[in-house]
Amino acid sequence: MTDCLFCSFVSGEIEADVVHETDTTLAFRDINPQAPTHVLVIPKAHHPTLAELAANAPELVADLAATAGAIAEKEGLGEGYRLVFNTGGHAGQTVFHVHGHVLGGRPMGWPPG
Ligand code: 5GP
Ligand code: ZN
Repeated sequence: MTDCLFCSFVSGEIEADVVHETDTTLAFRDINPQAPTHVLVIPKAHHPTLAELAANAPELVADLAATAGAIAEKEGLGEGYRLVFNTGGHAGQTVFHVHGHVLGGRPMGWPPG
């Protein structure tokens, strides 16, 4: 048992809409999509934030970036995509198992607001 939602997706305790998986990462569709493609990419290991991941397992940061690229290819995001890591309360992080949002399928605009 875990009280982390995303660890439950990794263990299979709760089913996610998985779009890509590697030895170290899992990618699944966001339940509340903000773009035609909105996929979350996570390390299978639990680390709360991107900063803590970078400090403790930097190779997994590269794995997340590579998985985001694989998702973009699978989802046909040749026109581009945005990879966002909300970090901490002011950024709106609500799930404290680090995750990158892969957003695409429309022009994303800048600044994000
Ligand atoms: P954050 O706000 O922490 O950067 O992003 C958390 C994301 O997790 C949100 O975009 C939210 O829609 C998504 N989310 C929350 N609960 C669930 C869930 O049960 N399943 C899925 N697939 N996504 C979820
Ligand atoms: Zn977790």
